[in-house]
Amino acid sequence: MLRGGLPIGKIFGISLRLNYSWFIVFILVTWALSASYFPLQYPDWSLSTRIAAGIITSLLFFGSVLGHELMHSIIAQRNGIPVRSITLFIFGGVSEIIDEPKQPGVELRMALAGPLTSFVIGGIFWLIWFWLRNTTEFVTAIAFWLGWINVFLAGFNLVPGFPLDGGRVLRSILWWRSRNLRSATRTASNIGRGVGYLFIFGGIWLVFQGNWFNGLWLAFIGWFLENAAVGSYRQLALKDMLEGHKVSEVMTRECLTVKPDLNIEKLVNDHILASGQRCFPVATDGRVLGLVTIHNIKAIPRDQWQTKTVKEAMTPFENLKWVKPDQDLASVLGMLTGDDINQVPVVEDANIVGMIDRDNLLSFVSVRGELGI
Ligand SMILES: [Zn+2]
Repeated sequence: MLRGGLPIGKIFGISLRLNYSWFIVFILVTWALSASYFPLQYPDWSLSTRIAAGIITSLLFFGSVLGHELMHSIIAQRNGIPVRSITLFIFGGVSEIIDEPKQPGVELRMALAGPLTSFVIGGIFWLIWFWLRNTTEFVTAIAFWLGWINVFLAGFNLVPGFPLDGGRVLRSILWWRSRNLRSATRTASNIGRGVGYLFIFGGIWLVFQGNWFNGLWLAFIGWFLENAAVGSYRQLALKDMLEGHKVSEVMTRECLTVKPDLNIEKLVNDHILASGQRCFPVATDGRVLGLVTIHNIKAIPRDQWQTKTVKEAMTPFENLKWVKPDQDLASVLGMLTGDDINQVPVVEDANIVGMIDRDNLLSFVSVRGELGI
């Protein structure tokens, strides 16, 4: 759901993106402010004033959400956890943090950084409102609402339902006490599911009270939270299952290689279609030059398949991501999902000794799951 998004810039090496669902909520918030909140509070405002105030308030609101996410990410980076991107989407913001924190203290600081930022931003807007309250109504109206929404955001995120920030705080405390991340995550994510269901029922109740818009919204957030809680636990359990196992246990060894001067047409007809293998090490005299995959071939127009060679299409060895045979499977999973690639070559002493792909990992997990080990 969050793969797609409009890049809007980069800050501290983190790319910022707007998911397409963000535009829906941006329009909804602007509309709710311009058509309902501002007209009720300030009946003498003109239509254009209301719309301008609605748009400015909305933009500053999403800026505040971004500030909240950014602080999570900055604390993560300071503790050596890389952050790839921050995406704003329909329910707020989400940081793509590459790894889980290694100590409960780090998780606690990371989790608290967001809500604290929202409290501070809210406080600043209320100060602005307080200073200017007898002067420009346009500015104070905006500042008052933003103060309120940021404090609400901080409070909401502190609800102890994992993966909300409050749930992460709870997990870090459980983790610190039990020294067991998996059991702490299971407890926190069960509570997260409970909170999700509470939101869903609360939302349905609101709908029956006639407050259908807020009710539906709350129920949707609850549903999203319930899913996220289940997903986070599964991901950790998967990582747990892979940890301690090596690449050499699951990699494909009988990997056909191709010569660099082969043309693409021949590669497709004689090798890919014949073997079903999706990716080939390119080698000459036992020396590996690179890797050619279906992905590389798709980048070349069909009418050039006769003339282009494998060497021109391949990813050269020095640009390849690769793993070692004794590397941990959990780290390979992180690499494949983090970089969104399907397979990596297994390299030992500058030689490709095999391939490992998502299917290898999946079948390893599903066989062990079936056997209950
Ligand atoms: Zn947060």
